[in-house]
Amino acid sequence: MPHATNTQLANAFDDFVRDAISQLDGELRDLSLAIHAQPELAWEEHHAHDRLTAYMERQPGFVVERKAYGLATAWSAIFTSSAASNVEIVPTVGFNSEMDALKGLGHACGHNLIAVAGCASAIATARALEHFDLSGRVVLLGTPAEEAGGGKVVMIERGAYDGLDACLMVHPGAGGAGRHGAGVMTSLCIASLTATFSGAPAHAGAAPEKGVNALDAAVGAYSAINALRQQLPSDVRVHGIITGGEEMSVNVIPSRAVLKYGVRAPSAAALSSLIPRVLNCFAGAALTAGCTHVVERHFVYLDVRPSSSLSRLFKSAALRVWDDGTAANDEEAYEVTEDVALGGSTDFGNVSYRCPALHPMFLLPGAPTEEHPHSSTYAAAAALPSSHEATLRVSTALAIAALEVVRSPEVRDEMQREWKKDMTAIGAADALRRIQEAFPEPASKAERGVDGPCGCSHSAA
Ligand SMILES: [Zn+2]
Ligand SMILES: [Zn+2]
Repeated sequence: MPHATNTQLANAFDDFVRDAISQLDGELRDLSLAIHAQPELAWEEHHAHDRLTAYMERQPGFVVERKAYGLATAWSAIFTSSAASNVEIVPTVGFNSEMDALKGLGHACGHNLIAVAGCASAIATARALEHFDLSGRVVLLGTPAEEAGGGKVVMIERGAYDGLDACLMVHPGAGGAGRHGAGVMTSLCIASLTATFSGAPAHAGAAPEKGVNALDAAVGAYSAINALRQQLPSDVRVHGIITGGEEMSVNVIPSRAVLKYGVRAPSAAALSSLIPRVLNCFAGAALTAGCTHVVERHFVYLDVRPSSSLSRLFKSAALRVWDDGTAANDEEAYEVTEDVALGGSTDFGNVSYRCPALHPMFLLPGAPTEEHPHSSTYAAAAALPSSHEATLRVSTALAIAALEVVRSPEVRDEMQREWKKDMTAIGAADALRRIQEAFPEPASKAERGVDGPCGCSHSAA
């Protein structure tokens, strides 16, 4: 449709994307179930990496890079339309495929669905760009270690998200109990850390005065944080555990004790104020017990800042996609809800501080309402045929929204304006600087373990 008006084009996107994604249905279902059947933890997603890259390599026009950005399980699949050769600046949209599972729970966060949603949206968008003769680029990123480790954070640092006009991904939410629908998700920031206290061992009966008790420091810090919690706003969370007790002996003054904490706040600015107060609890307790201590930063996930422009485009597309005329009554309503506030956190939040971004959440219509991600039953829900159908439906809406971004310079301008205004309004740059100052990142990525061997049994190819 080379000479169509913008409105005609926009209307034609719906049907084209629906058709393109329905053609992928069977193979995406196979892919989703193959990933689901072999759950892999953060940084160990080798099987998923191999299946997804092999699949994307079969898609015409996509250039696939395995083990991208120096990470064993990250990958990219990039498509540039034929018409893009005529323009200097190529409008570019990104999608994400998450892959990791949860210890002991399998794919209880439904990342098998997210993985194929990324493929579906990217392939449909690419095919539409070619069909409608639009200049544009699609960047599909295979993003490891969302559950722990912050794969996207590392990939942002290594340039994976450079040059994107927008980045989009979806996530399954609760069971819908027969209801369909989606919403636009926000989340909390989280700083994940380990505090290690070191003292001196001594015989607990014969010479306790010669010991320096690291466990006392850990317990002191734990109690100090409990007291601090009383003075904190109700929308922040500080939660932790003392690990390694089994390695201690009753008759030896413990010389080493370790605390692991998650520090959550609704915004980067709030997190930047909270982190120093928590760090003071560790420092104060170490001083009291006469120990030394080291705080190790694992990752900082920022809150998801949904782009208003992308949100409008997605909701509009999703309402059309969901309203397919099959809803028989209110119980079966197809709907798009407003923003969903999530108590959890995701490294996609960091992406939303990097470029305009959107992270819609969709319901699993065949799962009971009490089935949420990370529950013991959610992995089974993530394999239901109806969950797959919902994934394709939400992917359709996402691809239609992405096509609008590529098609319309006005949309891209407005999106950029809104995003910059939002980043300024929340004081993003200052908050990130203060987090970095209070809580420095490890000097090298190797310290985080992301460059080293992954420690799983997969042969290192
Ligand atoms: Zn999760
Ligand atoms: Zn998840």
